[in-house]
Amino acid sequence: MLAELSPFPTRRDQQPSGEGQATVWMSTSTSRRGRTMTRRITGCAMVAITAVIAASAPGPTFKAEAAAPSAGHPLIAVTVDDIPAHGGTAPGETRLDISRRLVAALRAEGVPARGFVNGSRAEADPDGMAALEYWASAFPVGNHTWSHADLNELTAGAYGEEIARNEPLLERISGGDWHWFRYPYLQEGDDPVTRLAIRQYLASRGYRVAGVTMAFDDWKYNDAYVRCAVRGDQAAIAKLEED
Ligand SMILES: [Zn+2]
Repeated sequence: MLAELSPFPTRRDQQPSGEGQATVWMSTSTSRRGRTMTRRITGCAMVAITAVIAASAPGPTFKAEAAAPSAGHPLIAVTVDDIPAHGGTAPGETRLDISRRLVAALRAEGVPARGFVNGSRAEADPDGMAALEYWASAFPVGNHTWSHADLNELTAGAYGEEIARNEPLLERISGGDWHWFRYPYLQEGDDPVTRLAIRQYLASRGYRVAGVTMAFDDWKYNDAYVRCAVRGDQAAIAKLEED
């Protein structure tokens, strides 16, 4: 097997660290097209293939093997950002459809994952809320700020409010510990004072920060896919999947 997959830790004492262990934090965004995401990622690092191929709708050729952490083996934490929505949807497709397919694919391949939530994208959209709740019924969640805020665009105080505003929703939908934080845009702040203030704020609220070691920019394909789907251009979709 390429690498062991560890369930995303949910308690402090399970945080992936320690001598001899290389932790790979892998991130992807919610994608309506698991297949394209898979095709792209099969060209990337081997550990990523193991994890993200699970999002493929067509049958992958191998299964990821969840395993208990052990010294000397890399640990992979698979995460999905921007739950429940990123970009538009193709004609006839709902957010809930996408969430169901994603969950089914991850489950089928035995891949543990955690989704990072933007509550604003569910608040006024029943379909988005259904997609979010479906994900949360299957996999853990974490905080990705209320509206996908950019730390370089806000004061520390306003950014803190973005974090806090998401919490009641996370508490409601989560069946476990949701105190993991993923910075939107992976932007931790250019200003050192703001950067430190948010780190301290997160720590004071019991968060751990989920860093990213490997990311694949799969979100860039979302809108292109929708445009192709609107035109019914299957050849273009196939080409996207090959890129
Ligand atoms: Zn994001």
